[in-house]
Parts: sequence; C-alpha cells; structure tokens
Amino acid sequence: MSSLVHGRTKIIATLGPSTDDPTVLRETLQAGVNLVRLNLSHGDHEIQRQRIEWVREALSDLGRDIGVLADLQGTKVRIGEFPEGSVRLEQGRSFVLDPHLARHAGNEEAVFISHTKIAKDVKPGDMLLLDDGLIGLRVEETKGGKVHTSVTSGGELGSRKGVNRLGGGFALGGLTDKDKEDIPFVARMEVDYLAVSFVRDAKDIHAVKKLLKSAGSNARVIAKIERAEAVENLDEILEAGDGVMVARGDLGVEIGDAELPGLQKSIIRKAIVAYRPVITATQMMQSMVNNPIPTRAEVLDVANAVIDGTDAVMLSAETAAGQYPAEAVAAMYRVCVAAERQFEPADPAMMDRTPMRRIDQAVARAAMSTAKRVGVAAIVALTESGATALWLSRFQSRLPIFGLTRHAAARRRMTLFRDVFPVAFDPTSRDPAEVTGEAIETLRRQGLLDEGDLVLMTMGDFTGVGGGTNTLKLLRVEKE
Ligand code: PGA
Ligand code: MN
Repeated sequence: MSSLVHGRTKIIATLGPSTDDPTVLRETLQAGVNLVRLNLSHGDHEIQRQRIEWVREALSDLGRDIGVLADLQGTKVRIGEFPEGSVRLEQGRSFVLDPHLARHAGNEEAVFISHTKIAKDVKPGDMLLLDDGLIGLRVEETKGGKVHTSVTSGGELGSRKGVNRLGGGFALGGLTDKDKEDIPFVARMEVDYLAVSFVRDAKDIHAVKKLLKSAGSNARVIAKIERAEAVENLDEILEAGDGVMVARGDLGVEIGDAELPGLQKSIIRKAIVAYRPVITATQMMQSMVNNPIPTRAEVLDVANAVIDGTDAVMLSAETAAGQYPAEAVAAMYRVCVAAERQFEPADPAMMDRTPMRRIDQAVARAAMSTAKRVGVAAIVALTESGATALWLSRFQSRLPIFGLTRHAAARRRMTLFRDVFPVAFDPTSRDPAEVTGEAIETLRRQGLLDEGDLVLMTMGDFTGVGGGTNTLKLLRVEKE
C-alpha cells in the first residue's frame, strides 16, 4: 500500500508567523499535516485569509486534502502587549494587572488585562497563572480597579498571554463580540471546523451552531474542554457538538496539572463511544519551539495520546511561532506512526455499549466486526457527508478506511478522523451497475489496493444521497 495510508493519527498544525513564508508552509504541510488551525486569538482577518489562501495554493503539489480548523478566542482573560514582544518577570518582584492601562503599554511593572472588573473578581492570596502556568502571580491587593501581585514564578512573559486562576471560575461565559465577528468571517472562508473556547455546556454549542447557520456555514463545531464545568457537562457537550478537544493548557490550570492524564484518557474514551472525533492539544512538542528535536517526555506524550486512541494530535506554538515548524511536524508524524503499531483499542467491548441510533451506524458496526474476522485489507465507504467514515473509524479496527466522496468539503472533514483517508470519487457520473467496480479500480490505480485484496464496502441504495448507507459488500480486487 502507498505511503498515504501510513499516519493513521491526524496531525493539526497551527499557522502563525513562523509558517507565513510559502516555502516554509509547504515544507511544514509536506511533513505530514492533515489539518491547519487558525488561532483567531492572534492576527487579524486579513492575515488569516492570506494563510488559508497559501494553504489552498500548496494543495495541488501535496496531492492530499487538508482540512481547516478555526479556533475562536472565547472569553479567555488575556494580558495586553509589550512593545518588545515580551518582558522578563523576576521572582519576588511586584507586577500590576491594570484594565485601564493602554493595551500596548506593557512593561516590567504593569500590563493591561482584558477583564475590566478583575479587581472585584480576585482577592488577596489568589494564584493567577499566565501562559498556561509558566508564570505565577500571587494577588497581594486590589486598589482602584488594579490588581497588585507578586511574582511567585518568574520567566519570560509574552504579549497577549492568557490568565487563569488556579481552581477555575475565572473565565467568563458565552461568546465575545470578537467571536461574533469572527463567525461570519470563518463562514466566508468556508472553514471545515470551528473550535469553541471555554465551552461550559450544550447551550454554548447551540449558540455557536445558530450563528454559523445564519452565516451560511456548514462548519462542524469542536468543543474545547478546558474548564471544570465542561468536564462535568461532557456528555451533553458531546451530544450537542461534532467533536471535542482536550485543551490541556487551560484545562491544566483550571483543574491542576496532575489531573490531566486521567482526564485525557476518559475524555478520549467518552468521545469515541459517543461517535465523536477527539483532538489532543497543547505543549505536545513544546521544546521544539526552540530545538530541532523533541524531548523524550514529549515523544512519550504524543505516543501515549495515540495509544489512548485520540483522532488527532495538535501543534500550537511549535509550528505557529517556533523555529522548527517542519521538524516539529516530522517528529510528530514519526512518533505517531510508531505508536500506531503499539495501539490496542483500550477495551474491545467498549463499542458494544455504543447505541446504534442510525442505520448507517449499525452497518458500520457490522462492517467492523466482519472485517476483523475475514481479514480484509481495507474498508471502503461510499459517502456523501463523510458520516459513515466517522462511524467506521470509531470501532478502532486498525484497518485503513477509504472515504470516497465527490464533495471536497466532505473530504476535508474526513481529514480529522483517525484511520480515514479521503479519496475523490463521483458515483453520480457513472452507470449505477458499475459504481462498485469503479470505486475499487480508483483505489487500485492510486496504489491504495492491490490485486487479490479483500475489501468491505459500505454504500446506500442510491448514489448521491446523504445518510443512506444501508449496505455492506465483500469484494475481491480483481485483475485489471
Ligand atoms: P488555546 O487552547 O491554545 O487556544 O488556549 C488550547 C488549550 O487551552 O490547551
Ligand atoms: Mn485554551
């Protein structure tokens, strides 16, 4: 089989200043990226539009589909900017968070903060964590709307970093005015996925879906699990949304870093049983911001996420602002491919507990239990929306799943699903009696199937109709 079917776990690379050179971008994508992430917390619409355009220009050389995930800033509390980009905070010194300071006027003594009523929301003794916990500030007193703190854990503090309070409850709810302006923008850009920050419950997801719909977007919604409330409301969030992200940066400062490994495993497991894709994110290869190779701990972290069953692993600053964006993707890719060999579905009986609410889900289940017993080489799903490919991939058979569709948007959507490889194929332009044979032939010609391979195919009675998968076929790849 071709190299296309290696790399079952999907890699998401955040775009940023480091990839804003088309040559670097191309190298980075080529190293194994399946989706790009636009972090709407940084950069204006013009640069984000430009980034999408560069990605689309690079596609023709790449020969595979790339999905686009936009990530809303949400109600995260952030500091303002430092004219030099960052300042050094020394332990023991005092530092002021001031909502009335000019946004760009940060220095070693004070910085703007986006929470206008912060002085009412914190009390002396509270611990504020900045930049995912890298910098620690203890609240000493609040005066005139400002918060005076002392630095308990110093270091280099960059512009616009997030601020959390240890124990949670600091981030505000709902969507910001900026989020509401970003939604029509992502609709115009035809992004495939929209990640929503600081989701609390299903209501937050419904609100985003409504805005997307009125903006004419078909983007699927990914709920970032990064607040204590979201962990409590995980079941309804999985039901309301189209996928989740284990957003370990904020989650780690909200619930304490020691809780992360257990939560990562349980969120991944619950997402899979709920038929949803799941992304594991943040600091996966963090040291590669400055180094060309990852630490052993990072290698183990990426591999463990793969072994936990995640659909995708994500790079943030490593690609957006690091010195080695292509190397970071290449390292992630190589670690994923090796970890996939170690992967055993955590609990083979897990999916027996999964409800089968739809006919296509029942067909997917039947396909997967048959596939394992008869030794097929691959599963082929003729799909309109990509949904059947998602259901199939939830059963973690370790077999490649080829999602064949005529819709480019459905192919881009499938880039997120573990084990799924999107392939362009239009059944509507063919004689219905020939569709099966031509689908197999398309895959054989691309080197994805070999003569003699046994494959399982899922399809509906009518080609070109969404949600109609009701049939399972076992086929042998014949000689040309
Ligand atoms: P962020 O989300 O990078 O937008 O904060 C991910 C996380 O919190 O881990
Ligand atoms: Mn976050």
